[in-house]
Amino acid sequence: MQVISGRHTVLVAGGGGFIGGHLARALTERGWSVRVADIKPLDDWYQIPEGVEARRLDLSRIDDCREAVHGVDTVYNLAADMGGIAFIKSHKADCMLSVLINTHLLLAARDAGVQRYFFASSACVYNVDRQIESDVTPLKEADAYPAMAEDGYGWEKLFSERMCRHFMEDFGLETRVARFHNIYGVNGSYDDGREKAPAALCRKIAEAALTGNHEIEIWGDGEQTRSFMYVDDCVKAIQMVVDGPNALPVNVGSIERVSINEMVTMIERIAGITVRRRYRLDGPLGVRGRNSDNTMFKELYGWEPTIGLSDGLEQTYRWIFDQLAARQVSETHLYAM
Ligand code: NAD
Repeated sequence: MQVISGRHTVLVAGGGGFIGGHLARALTERGWSVRVADIKPLDDWYQIPEGVEARRLDLSRIDDCREAVHGVDTVYNLAADMGGIAFIKSHKADCMLSVLINTHLLLAARDAGVQRYFFASSACVYNVDRQIESDVTPLKEADAYPAMAEDGYGWEKLFSERMCRHFMEDFGLETRVARFHNIYGVNGSYDDGREKAPAALCRKIAEAALTGNHEIEIWGDGEQTRSFMYVDDCVKAIQMVVDGPNALPVNVGSIERVSINEMVTMIERIAGITVRRRYRLDGPLGVRGRNSDNTMFKELYGWEPTIGLSDGLEQTYRWIFDQLAARQVSETHLYAM
């Protein structure tokens, strides 16, 4: 197997996915040697930045983890079997099986003498009882305990956070943990059943613009609230967390809270159309309200996200619209043949 040497060498686990793909690109821009591993066939990766070593590996398997971390200084673990609320509500066992990925990667990293290990956790670790109103109090890191995480996905994240902490305490592996709050942007899922609200709503409104059928479905009454962070800000934040000395889990999110209805209105403005909203009250729903408290991040790193929701949605909408339009053109060509 090829050994990358001489430069700082990193592994982005799950880098065929959305955030990992953006992170891998940013790390190559630092002049580092970047290996990316993902279980998906390379053709299905959202992006493969130039210069990365791309490998198809199943990181739930210890042997594949050992191969992935060989010669690596820092591991960024973003690999997980996950998706938006529809996916995590209907795939709780699959979500929890991601515990094999983090556990085996930690073992392999410890044995290979990896210096630093990052784990992508989630706001789904927070106690659901603190998120029962749209007008929710922003979640501080301490609010994860006493624990009552999102069933399935959230419990796996909380357990894996603790596994990181204990690998640091017991084995001296420097671990870092960020709790992501709804990351969105270009080059991610938008129509494969794993998409999240921003991409799903951009897709529905782009389809409305392309087809002329302006009715879209919204899950719930649209008054549930969230904050959304653009992926470029997330990638910056990950690097600050990994480079810095703090080992406690820290929020990586935006504090710009909106309701789903408000987000639809923002996307309508970007698209230049108005849609008819059909509310599916029995649709899959997460907690009623969620927002990030960024006090700890600001104190530690002196930084706040810079990309506002309307700017991030504009980029996301344009990208999704272009994907759908290109697909429409190629389907038209196919039928014409
Ligand atoms: P994603 O699904 O686009 O990326 C995850 C990648 O992991 C996928 O490409 C998938 O193929 C890969 N993977 C799954 N099982 C694997 C295995 N056994 N071996 C190797 N690769 C495997 O998701 P994302 O949005 O980029 O999320 C990245 C990380 O951030 C995940 O851990 C996720 O739980 C966490 N997170 C994301 C968000 C968000 O809003 N996107 C929020 C909270 C936490």
